[in-house]
Amino acid sequence: MNRSTYVIVGAGQAGANAAAELRRQGFDGDVLLIGDEAHAPYERPPLSKAMLLWPEKTRCAVHADGFYDEQRIALRLGVPVVALDRDARTLTLADWDTIAYDKLLLCTGARARRLPLLDALKTNVHTLRTLDDARRLASELHPGQRIVLVGAGVIGLELASSALELGARVTVIEAAGAALGRCAPPLLSEFLCDVHRSRGVRFHFGAALADARREHGEIVLSLQDGTRIAADAVIYGIGAQPDTALAQAAGLTIDNGIAIDAGYRTSDPHIYAAGDVASRQHAASGIYGRLETWENAQKQGIGAARAMLGVAAEADTAPWFWTDQCGLNVQLVGDMAAPHWLVRGPLDGSPCVLLGLDEQGALTGAITINLGREMRSARQLVERRAKFAREVWLDAGRSLRELARSAL
Ligand code: FAD
Ligand code: NAP
Repeated sequence: MNRSTYVIVGAGQAGANAAAELRRQGFDGDVLLIGDEAHAPYERPPLSKAMLLWPEKTRCAVHADGFYDEQRIALRLGVPVVALDRDARTLTLADWDTIAYDKLLLCTGARARRLPLLDALKTNVHTLRTLDDARRLASELHPGQRIVLVGAGVIGLELASSALELGARVTVIEAAGAALGRCAPPLLSEFLCDVHRSRGVRFHFGAALADARREHGEIVLSLQDGTRIAADAVIYGIGAQPDTALAQAAGLTIDNGIAIDAGYRTSDPHIYAAGDVASRQHAASGIYGRLETWENAQKQGIGAARAMLGVAAEADTAPWFWTDQCGLNVQLVGDMAAPHWLVRGPLDGSPCVLLGLDEQGALTGAITINLGREMRSARQLVERRAKFAREVWLDAGRSLRELARSAL
């Protein structure tokens, strides 16, 4: 009997979890995981944090050494897939090898959005997406250096924190009027920026970059309002773009990312997609789009593998992610665009919870600051769209766990 071959393109968080799940579910055919990076699958969250601070002792592999051999998962690393022939059901690799598949999963993730004005400077200009980027950056960050970060998103703020901890002097330039505009409410971003400022970070908001050049060995950035900022190195994080090149060239439906249905299937019934690259309707929030988080890559990788085997998907949960910066662990769940926010506890760096309510007073989003133990309950309350009187929400004497139990 012919053995089926399931191929996964993209050896990141989603791809590595999908491969493992195929085996966990008892799939006995061939599993091939192909990645264009030279490294075995690794997790990206440490890259902007521990990997910069303690590069020698930080580990970020998704699975332990030996896992892929034990699980009979074949790894092809350091070679991009350059073409997908949907009629023949084959892939072509950059080394001209051709691989046939029965089912294909695309987990090609996202890449850092480029800013040609800065790339033209060539040296001392960085983006951060890969392990190689992080290692380059770690070897170049030194005490006393003047670092300019362009973009005050999650990468910008996490790097501001890490660079400061390494003794650098940090300036952040952001085109929008506030930090974390895409993923956090103003209350949180203002608080985090104040913490960064108190540690010496300088911010320029509403700051459009007009020019970047090298003068007398330093980089000089000019803003549209005429402000000039000198730097020894520039790091920019201005968003991620889904890597849809392969899918697009093969004629799959693209809608911001690779469009998939509730069963992770693309517009080709033999091809699935998951992770940062996949866009779909999210049942829990009703929002159509992509999520760019560790948990989404983890869950979608597993969900897509099950779908390939015809195993029912687990129910969607409210989206969750975290960020670590300035000694604060911040975890965010649900809708960050909620119109009303309540603060349980002092918003001064002590443990506290922010609660986001919709116009009907239902809880649709929650944020814990140095209070991760309340996150599970916060999530349950968000998923139930719990409603309590304002004074109940604000009574920090009652744990969210207690409220979650009473909201059952
Ligand atoms: P990726 O991790 O991007 O993996 C896709 C892989 O596919 C890549 O290796 C890519 O090179 C490869 N590939 C693409 N095209 C091809 C091709 N044609 N052939 C072969 N290979 C190909 N999320 C959080 O929730 N919390 C955090 O604290 C956090 N921190 C982060 C810090 C950093 C610096 C970054 C960059 C991301 C962070 N994230 C965090 C986001 C999280 O890491 C991503 O959402 C997650 O990595 C997405 O996984 P993925 O497998 O979908 O894609
Ligand atoms: P991001 O969160 O989208 O933030 C990018 C920021 O840069 C936005 O505020 C954006 O403003 C701004 N910007 C865009 N163009 C600019 C310009 N020309 N000059 C100055 N600012 C500009 O993206 P990111 O921080 O680059 O992160 C990239 C990826 O890594 C994402 O997938 C993210 O999820 C992931 N990541 C996640 C974590 C985490 O979850 N803890 C940590 C690090 C990285 P506008 O919104 O107005 O365009």
